[in-house]
Amino acid sequence: MATIDALPPLRDVIRTHDLQARKSMGQNFLLDLNLTAKIARQAGDLTGCDVLEIGPGPGGLTRGLLSEGARHVLAIEKDARCLPALAEIAAAYPGRLTVLEGDALEIDPLSHLSPPIRVAANLPYNVGTELLVRWLTPKDWPPFWQSLTLMFQREVAERIVAQPGSKTYGRLAILAQWRAEARIVLQLPPEAFTPPPKVSSSVVHLNALPTPRYPADAAVLSRVVAAAFNQRRKMLRAALKGIAPDIEDRLQAAGLKPTDRAEQIPLEGFCALARAVAAK
Ligand code: SAM
Repeated sequence: MATIDALPPLRDVIRTHDLQARKSMGQNFLLDLNLTAKIARQAGDLTGCDVLEIGPGPGGLTRGLLSEGARHVLAIEKDARCLPALAEIAAAYPGRLTVLEGDALEIDPLSHLSPPIRVAANLPYNVGTELLVRWLTPKDWPPFWQSLTLMFQREVAERIVAQPGSKTYGRLAILAQWRAEARIVLQLPPEAFTPPPKVSSSVVHLNALPTPRYPADAAVLSRVVAAAFNQRRKMLRAALKGIAPDIEDRLQAAGLKPTDRAEQIPLEGFCALARAVAAK
């Protein structure tokens, strides 16, 4: 087993602290420190950056982020059983790791972080998707983060980078590609994790764009896209009838045909529609 620091191998950490993975917490741990360092490198140059890590678990990725030079890691972990293992990492990297116990969906980490900030996480996919949408849809842009490096089930990763016309194109692709440049940077087989999940995983890296690709209000765009893809086989005029009573006029104002289907509309078209819906 690789050593990237003087701390014990992760299998020993798991044994010492009795960290049997729990399905209820979505726990599939990465125990190969070569691999966690490789994932940390996908997050870009960490020197001089604060890193927000969600769900550190026994700390494999945390150790990767620290050994790759992160100035400070703020890690939020829901499972209190992991805290003693994380305290050992904090002791090995004095002043560079802060751990908060709790649910990342409830905690506001910003008072603990200084820019530039990068985010890295290997999270249960439902929590990851919810956080991703929140990180992509603040009212103002640019956001608090410079980049996001996130592990997802491969199928979710493909939805994030999907292009119009594909079956996986939808809300995640539009929200991600509107304000960020999104790429799949690593593919991982189930055996990379302990215990192995049923499906393959991918690491997605998103760089925040300085300004969104097209103007639109985040909340309106989110609402329009959610409605359009909720009934993706329907024509836009039917799928969007709950958005505005005069939706056909607004579709036309945006240069879209009421008979078009969501799957065919590029990002630019959805942004134009969000502007037309927001117009008085
Ligand atoms: N990062 C570790 C690794 O790569 O080995 C653990 C990954 S495991 C897939 C997901 C981690 O997220 C677990 O440690 C779990 O306890 C934690 N977790 C699950 N839900 C969470 C939540 N809502 N907030 C914070 N941590 C959460």
